[in-house]
Amino acid sequence: MTDLSAIHMTPHREYQPKVGISACLAGHAVRYDAGHKYHDLIMRELGPWLDLQVFCPEADAGLGIPRPPIRLVETSEGAISAIGVETPELDVTSALKEGTKGFALKQAQELCAYIVKSRSPSCGSGSTPVHDETGSISRDGDGLLVSDLKKACPGLLIIEESDLDSVEKCRAFLEECYALSER
Ligand code: SF4
Repeated sequence: MTDLSAIHMTPHREYQPKVGISACLAGHAVRYDAGHKYHDLIMRELGPWLDLQVFCPEADAGLGIPRPPIRLVETSEGAISAIGVETPELDVTSALKEGTKGFALKQAQELCAYIVKSRSPSCGSGSTPVHDETGSISRDGDGLLVSDLKKACPGLLIIEESDLDSVEKCRAFLEECYALSER
C-alpha cells in the first residue's frame, strides 16, 4: 500500500489517482446563478495529490450559465424529473440525461472516485431534496448524474463535499483513493 505519510511530506505529482469533482467545488463559476462553491479544504488538502477531473453536468448539458434553478419532482408512479423551481413548465430531464450519458458511461470508467456537491439536483448523493407533485419535499435522494453514475459504475467511490469537512477525513479519503487506484 502507498505510504501516505511520505506523500504528505514530499510532492508526489508523477502518479495521481484520477478523481472526478463537481466543477463548482473547484471554484468554477458554473452554478445556476453563475457563482461557485469553492471548497478551500478539499482543494488545499486533496488538490495537490489527485488528478482532479472537473465536471458540471448542467453546464455540460448546455443548460447555460446562468440558468433557471431546477429541482427534482417525483410522480406518484416513481418517475423523477428535473423541473424549473420558478418555471414548472421547464423540464430539463431529457437534456440532462442525454448530456451525462456519454460521461457516465465513458469518462467515469477511468475514475476511482468522485467528489460531488451535496443537495444538488444533478450532483447530490443521497442528500438531494425530492419533491412530490404538490411541491412538498417527500424524501432525500440522488441527483440525476449521481443516479446514473451509480448504475453505470457500481464500484465508483462517491462522496459528498459535506463528508470531507476535516483534514482527517480528507486524508482518509486520499488513502482510499490510492488504495482503489492500485487495484
Ligand atoms: S450541476 Fe453540479 S457541478 Fe454544476 S453547479 Fe450544480 S452542483 Fe456544481
